[in-house]
Amino acid sequence: MNTETTSKTNGKLNGFDNETIGDDHLFTSLDTPMKANAFDMSNEEKKKRISILFSEIMDVMGLDLNDDSLQGTPDRVAKMYIEEIFSGLDPKNKPKMALFENKYQYNQMLVEKNITFYSNCEHHFVPIIGKAHIAYKSSGKVIGLSKLNRIVQYFAKRPQVQERLTNQIANELKTVLETEDVAVIIDAKHLCVSSRGVQDDTSTTITTFYGGEFNTASKIVELQNYLNK
Ligand SMILES: [Zn+2]
Repeated sequence: MNTETTSKTNGKLNGFDNETIGDDHLFTSLDTPMKANAFDMSNEEKKKRISILFSEIMDVMGLDLNDDSLQGTPDRVAKMYIEEIFSGLDPKNKPKMALFENKYQYNQMLVEKNITFYSNCEHHFVPIIGKAHIAYKSSGKVIGLSKLNRIVQYFAKRPQVQERLTNQIANELKTVLETEDVAVIIDAKHLCVSSRGVQDDTSTTITTFYGGEFNTASKIVELQNYLNK
């Protein structure tokens, strides 16, 4: 490892070079690392800047930006980054949650499984494609089923590592539902593992969060039974 790489890394990742950090998916924090002034710039300005910078990348690679097919790509990428695939960086896009009273007194676990999501690896900026399974036990409050889906989509639309995505969804559920009794299981395919690097097209990665009552052997078995149906 050269000294330049070492001096550029810091904290817990010191000592690993950039390739290792990426391919081994090392990460520093359960919060998405954001700058303090992340939202000083308007979305319109961000899109303009990204478009300029992306056309530079294309230009450096030797692509002809006068070509009719490529001309609009920098603008398209900028719009896609800000409005779609990385829109979950902006707290303004966080789904609004309405809580309801648990009128039916349903006091068993509720499982929503197979929530498809598309995210992007923060180390390579290529897709992570997966399914999230969520379970909670009501503390007296419930939320609409579609909200579970929206929470997953919000945190997925960031540059991510799978462990953080799992924990961010779990923490949000705990806060919104006012309970520790939540579980999140994510099974995902990382295109940075399949389409490059070790080029393993069959492996998937599973991460779990079992909070409160879910963190017991019997509840984990019960939950796994529902997921295997
Ligand atoms: Zn990656």
